[in-house]
Amino acid sequence: MTHPTPDLAAETDHAAPLYSPRTVRELLARFGLRPTKSLGQNFLIDGNILRLIAEAGGAAPGVSVLEIGPGLGVLTRELARRGASVITLEKDERLRPVLEETLEGSGVSVVWGDALDYDYSQLPPGTRVIANLPYYISTALLSRFMAAPGIVSATVLVQREVAVRLSAVPGQDGYGYLSAMTSLHGSARLLRDVPKGAFYPAPEVTSSVVRLEFSGKRPTPEFVKFLEAALHHRRKTLRNNLRLVGFDGVVIDAAIRGAGLGESVRAEDIPLASMAQIFAGLPVPAPD
Ligand code: SAM
Repeated sequence: MTHPTPDLAAETDHAAPLYSPRTVRELLARFGLRPTKSLGQNFLIDGNILRLIAEAGGAAPGVSVLEIGPGLGVLTRELARRGASVITLEKDERLRPVLEETLEGSGVSVVWGDALDYDYSQLPPGTRVIANLPYYISTALLSRFMAAPGIVSATVLVQREVAVRLSAVPGQDGYGYLSAMTSLHGSARLLRDVPKGAFYPAPEVTSSVVRLEFSGKRPTPEFVKFLEAALHHRRKTLRNNLRLVGFDGVVIDAAIRGAGLGESVRAEDIPLASMAQIFAGLPVPAPD
């Protein structure tokens, strides 16, 4: 059986493209691999989605791109083909021989290890994250991207439910701590939904491509902690959530009234500017 040569300029003509279901299955079979569910291994097999992520993510000559989880190298190659300077983090060492073949001559730097342990603060200014994220750690990774000073955007495939939470505004379904963090660091836009059939093997949930832009602004750790407590239990009132972390009821009521709101208000309905007002009305940061 033939397999595609690592020709970065042209993926057509002589062989099926790397992302084709046939090639993905052939690579897995030839290297004796089975996708591992616990590592979120759902490989992209749709060329349109692949190009959309690379394009929307801003992969272009001279741009520093960080990818998480290259898998078989399908998206990685597309990023490199567009001239980006790519670093990709992969935990599954079994993929080493596949990536040696598929990324040969691409100039991509593969870092082996757990993306949760990577030091994102070392990335150069202007870095763009472009990735089909392992879903089981997508929100943990997004928090790390937000905190990294060099990262200016993240264009990622995530579960639809996470994309909705990222782009929700107060009062909308899905609004919570993740939405608030996204607004405090920049903005998020859901670009398009992606059906299960765009992956091999097909995941259990629908996915979405979402683009986050980071403004460079950083909330104070005290305000972040306050929001975490305020939005901790959905459907509980803000008052009750703050009582749970030790704030005095009388003090809370005064702060909520000071922001022009009623005591039965829930944090997920409150705009961030009013949350900041309430926070400022509290005498001390949230106790430990
Ligand atoms: N980019 C490939 C694609 O689109 O076909 C694969 C994406 S697949 C959804 C997620 C990838 O992340 C897999 O290659 C998986 O091995 C890798 N991965 C899972 N957990 C990881 C971790 N903690 N650190 C680094 N990579 C991880």
